Amino acid sequence: MTPPQPTAHTPRPTLGILGGGQLAQMLALAALPLGVRVLVLEPDPHAPARLCAEHLHAPYTDPAGLSRLAECSAVTLEFENVPTQALEALAGRVPVRPGAALLERTKHRAREKEALRAAGVGTAPFVVIESGADLAGALAAVGGRGILKTSELGYDGKGQARVESDAELNAAWASVKGAACVLEGLVPFVREVSLSVARTAAGQLAFGPLIENIHREGILRTSIFPATDADTLEPQARELARACAQAWALEGLMTLEFFVVEGRELLVNEVAPRVHNSGHLTQDGGGLSQFEAQVRAVLGLPLTDWRPLHPTAMVNLVGVADATGEPVHPDWGAIDALPGTRLHLYHKAWRAGRKLGHVNLVAADAEALAARLAELERLIP
Ligand code: AMP
Repeated sequence: MTPPQPTAHTPRPTLGILGGGQLAQMLALAALPLGVRVLVLEPDPHAPARLCAEHLHAPYTDPAGLSRLAECSAVTLEFENVPTQALEALAGRVPVRPGAALLERTKHRAREKEALRAAGVGTAPFVVIESGADLAGALAAVGGRGILKTSELGYDGKGQARVESDAELNAAWASVKGAACVLEGLVPFVREVSLSVARTAAGQLAFGPLIENIHREGILRTSIFPATDADTLEPQARELARACAQAWALEGLMTLEFFVVEGRELLVNEVAPRVHNSGHLTQDGGGLSQFEAQVRAVLGLPLTDWRPLHPTAMVNLVGVADATGEPVHPDWGAIDALPGTRLHLYHKAWRAGRKLGHVNLVAADAEALAARLAELERLIP
C-alpha cells in the first residue's frame, strides 16, 4: 500500500506509537489538534489510548500491525522495553524515534549507566553483577550500603532491594534468581528532580523545565514546578541532558531523573526514552506540554523549549486499598471544587498500586500553590 502523502486536505503527518497506555493516550490527545492522526499498536483490548487513536489491537511483534505503523510518517514509543523484533521489522521502513541504539541502552540499567559515564554524566557508584563471583567485595566498593536492581524490566521500585550486608546482598541476588543486576551505592540525596530534552532528526535541541519529585513507596506521588534551587540546578541539568542527547544522537524526547546531592551536585538515577510522569504537570501550566513536545520532535515540526507559565503541581492517583482490600477513593467532589485543579483519568480498571490518573494544580504564585497542594494531598489517598 502507498504510504499516506500530505495533501491540501491532510497537511499533517501520521504518528505511530508502540504501546497504548496512558502516555500514548496523552500523546494522541496532544497530536490531534496539530492535525496529526495517531495509530497505536497495543495488545491490551482495554488500553487507555484506544479511545483517542486508531487502535491496532495486536502483539507488538505482529507483522500486519507493524506494517500499518510502517506507513506512518514516524513511529515513537511510550515504554522502553519494545521487543527487538518489532524494531527490526520497522528498520529501514519508517523512522523510529528514539531509535534502536538508544533503546538498547535505556532498557538495560548497566548499559545505561556505562553510557552515562561515557557521556561525562555522573551516576551513583555501581558494580555490575552478572555472576556469583561479582558479588565478592561489591558492597564495599559502592560504600557499604546499596540497592540491588535488576538490569532489565524494573520500574517504579520493582525488582529492587536495599542491602546493608554481604548476607543481604547474596539473599537479594538469590531472590531474583541470579538475574543480571546492578548494585548501586545508596545516594544520600536531598531531593529528586527531572528534566526532559527533545532533539529533532536535524539536530535541533529543546528542553523542558526542571521539576521536583516526591516518591512514596518507590512510586512518584507529587511533582512540583518550579523546583527548589532551580536557578542553580536547572542550568546544570540542561548541560547534562544536552551532553546525553548529543552523545546518544537522540531523535525524539527523553527524560533524565536526577538525585540532588548536598543541594548542588546532580547525579543521574535513570533515563526514560520518552515523556515522563513528572512532566504531566506541563499539560496545564499554560506552556507547551511535554506530549506536544515529543510529537513535534518526532515529526520534525517546529519546536521550542517548553515550561509552565505559572507555578504548577501534579499528584498521582494510584489505586489504594483499605485493610480488607477494598478501594479507598479520592474525594472527587472536593478535588473538582479546589480552584486550579484539572483531572486526568486513564480509563483503567482499579487495582491497588496501579496508576489510574493524576490531578494537575495551577496557581498564580508559589505561596498559593503550596497552600492548595497541601489541601489537594489530603483529598487523595
Ligand atoms: P528507580 O526505579 O531506579 O527510579 O528507583 C525508584 C526510587 O528509589 C528513586 O526515585 C529513589 O527515590 C530511590 N532510589 C533508587 N536508587 C537509589 C540510590 N542509588 N540511592 C538512593 N535512593 C535510590
